[in-house]
Amino acid sequence: MSQVDKVNLLGLSPAKLEAFFAELGEKRFRAQQVSQWIHQHGIDQFEQMSNLSKPLRIKLAEIAEIRPPELVQQLESTDGTRKWLIRVAGGSCVEAVFIPEKNRGTLCVSSQVGCSLDCSFCATGKQGFQRDLTAAEIIGQLWLAAKSFRDLDGQSERVVSNVVFMGMGEPLLNFDNVVDAIHLMLDDHAYGLSKRRVTLSTSGVVPMLDQLGKHTDVSLAVSLHAPNDALRNELVPINKKYPIAMLLASVKGYLAGLPDKHRSATIEYTLIDGVNDRPEHARELAELLHDVPSKINLIPFNPFSLSDYRRVSNNSLYRFRDILVEAGYTATIRTTRGDDIDAACGQLAGMVNDRTRRSERYNRDTLADISEPVRFIQGE
Ligand code: SF4
Repeated sequence: MSQVDKVNLLGLSPAKLEAFFAELGEKRFRAQQVSQWIHQHGIDQFEQMSNLSKPLRIKLAEIAEIRPPELVQQLESTDGTRKWLIRVAGGSCVEAVFIPEKNRGTLCVSSQVGCSLDCSFCATGKQGFQRDLTAAEIIGQLWLAAKSFRDLDGQSERVVSNVVFMGMGEPLLNFDNVVDAIHLMLDDHAYGLSKRRVTLSTSGVVPMLDQLGKHTDVSLAVSLHAPNDALRNELVPINKKYPIAMLLASVKGYLAGLPDKHRSATIEYTLIDGVNDRPEHARELAELLHDVPSKINLIPFNPFSLSDYRRVSNNSLYRFRDILVEAGYTATIRTTRGDDIDAACGQLAGMVNDRTRRSERYNRDTLADISEPVRFIQGE
């Protein structure tokens, strides 16, 4: 068997890893042991897995491998934000960003190289779609981040407490690989994250959102960005296929299917000057969401070179927030982190292929975890 034919165990979900060992005639606990070595200890060599028999280690080395994506660059901001540029198979690069906060550390991961959905405020969409990431390339972002903390800090203490799918790509368009990666994030023999602390953010791929609840019960964020179809059709073109009413019905269905009935969705709303930032938009949004268990995350647009949109004024931003709060919503404003390493919202480098070797700013929805309200920016 050649190197390329080896099974990469890094991206196998717990069920698939068990099936792999069952085929070898090994018991279930072997899969759990190997998972712990890979995901909890950051080991990528079978010979280091000391609680496996030597013959099994030799066998595994013949037929399998643990192959993370390649770490190209790691940057650390003065505020503790870290950013990793990661090369995936084929040479394209994606980024993962870690944002430390007082009681948690949030990793933002990518699910695709580029994106096909072409939201008007997002430069990832302008770069077009290249391909889906494999499950190994998705979980590999978490593996590399966790490993970098171990290497830097000299301890195995888990510092990534939250993961958000808010990097490049629409996660629901890479459904199977994203779900496999989520299962690893939640598995006690892998990363053991709480379902509340893993958040999938979608622009509204309704048929797949309808499927999601059959596979997982992680937190949900919705990139809404507009309070009506006419405006959302401009900003988030997939809305023409799955309009707001259909999307919100699907969101309510997902929430209703969760075992914990008190969960809510986070509604992401990027505020763009003169486009969707008026008081009437805020009031329309409040009315629109009246029967959707939700909290609202307001994100000031970060300008980038390929866009004519402008950042919302602070006055409009706080007025918008206040209208929502007065209507009874929890509404937060995203704070900027990692500005000095271009890791703030909308500043991830979009080096997606060999033709695009310049640092491209693009506007992503949010970077930090939104499964809980973050903090208010106090008025000026
Ligand atoms: S905002 Fe999200 S869904 Fe829209 S183009 Fe960008 S990455 Fe794709």
